[in-house]
Amino acid sequence: MIIVMKPQASEQSIRTVTGYIEEHGLQVHLSRGEEVTIIGIVGDKTKLSTENLIIFKDVDRIVPVTESYKLANKKFHPNPTTVKVGNTSIGPGSLTIMAGPCAVESKEQLLTIAREVRKAGATILRGGAYKPRTSPYSFQGLEEEGLKYMQEAKEATGLSTICEVVSLEAIEAAVKYVDMIQIGARNMQNFILLKEAGQSGLPVLLKRGLCATIDEWLNAAEYIIAEGNPNVVLCERGIRTFETATRNTLDLSAVPVLRRMTHLPIIVDPSHSTGSYRYVPPMAKAAVACDADGLMIEVHNDPAHALSDGPQSLNFTKFAALTEELKPFCDLMGRSFP
Ligand code: PEP
Ligand code: MN
Repeated sequence: MIIVMKPQASEQSIRTVTGYIEEHGLQVHLSRGEEVTIIGIVGDKTKLSTENLIIFKDVDRIVPVTESYKLANKKFHPNPTTVKVGNTSIGPGSLTIMAGPCAVESKEQLLTIAREVRKAGATILRGGAYKPRTSPYSFQGLEEEGLKYMQEAKEATGLSTICEVVSLEAIEAAVKYVDMIQIGARNMQNFILLKEAGQSGLPVLLKRGLCATIDEWLNAAEYIIAEGNPNVVLCERGIRTFETATRNTLDLSAVPVLRRMTHLPIIVDPSHSTGSYRYVPPMAKAAVACDADGLMIEVHNDPAHALSDGPQSLNFTKFAALTEELKPFCDLMGRSFP
């Protein structure tokens, strides 16, 4: 439930209400807008007689929040959140492009890709060092060595960096080398990992699970935020349907649906969702047109010889052409292009 205070409510009135809630063993989440302050209540509401709250000074109204996620809920936090990642940020007003190889394969490969994607407008370098592959016989990633290359690429280019984590050990290593961690689709409901990510202190990119509903996805985000880490970005990366012409089905309608439900930034991954480099440009443009805050795109120096996800990777020429084509879409949507 949330308590909406009257415009111009005094600090004293706000403190009285929050104190009353906390006395009953519940947590308070304060959201201060330009006009009004909203007090969100998290915890077991049976401990509190809520009807009394309406008679407190400067309380305007009490609104029940029926969704099980609270801290990720737009009702708790009406203004959009901007998440800082290294020396850039993801949120309203700009389009963030994360680009790079599916897997970090070598230092030279990563540095070459980092320079090219930066030139074309990316501000965050992606690169997998721990690869949760469908087959146990596929390349599994360079692990900590790959993370060190990510740090070197950051130092060489100034790009911020993101890397997927698959275990507590991977999180502990990632905090030493990268700016943001990614929870992959296959781990979206790995609740232990979500809690660890919440305690990592790094911003988290939470990919949608292959079969997850939007409600389950937002509850997964809630796990991270409930650990005290509000810096969560959601990434739509396609869901499994009966269609086999694409690797997954990109659910672009999730973007406007999420806008209504949550204040968290939303980005779209046209690479993993389509599985083919041919479909990446049109879906990237469509993602900007439906107001996504950013894109995650796989780029490789030599897609034909990539150790992972070559068929969906753009080469440098195609990536540069795409970012050029995205500019008018950004203008249309009122977003600056880096
Ligand atoms: C990835 O981004 O490298 C990845 C494995 O993506 P997903 O979890 O969306 O499949
Ligand atoms: Mn990949």
